[in-house]
Amino acid sequence: MTMACTILLIEDNDQNRYLATFLLERHGHRVVSAVDGAHGIALAQTLTPDMVLLDIQLPVMDGYAVARALRAIPALAATPIVAVTSFAMIGDREKALDAGCAAYIEKPIDPETFVSQLETIARRAHAPEVQP
Ligand code: MN
Repeated sequence: MTMACTILLIEDNDQNRYLATFLLERHGHRVVSAVDGAHGIALAQTLTPDMVLLDIQLPVMDGYAVARALRAIPALAATPIVAVTSFAMIGDREKALDAGCAAYIEKPIDPETFVSQLETIARRAHAPEVQP
């Protein structure tokens, strides 16, 4: 994300949403946020964001279900979804990747490295496959 990106943030926790938005906007990115999965999916369809940052622990519809729904939207087929997991559980990571997430990061997010982590994931997602 050397250029400004539009990032859809789906996060129900006010403090986490505020911090992630602050850090990304400080680096010149545009953040549009939703506090639940249904709203996030609706926004994704109109925005076609460059990346989705998806909290796994959401009310009503958890992040795995949201990821699967986003993956089913043709316009978002190549959009990286990054899961944000609260607990460093290997099972959660695998479930996030199985649901179609490109990567995951763990809470609490580290303000020093958060944006660069996401930029690395975005570059990897959009880079052409390098054949050995
Ligand atoms: Mn949450």
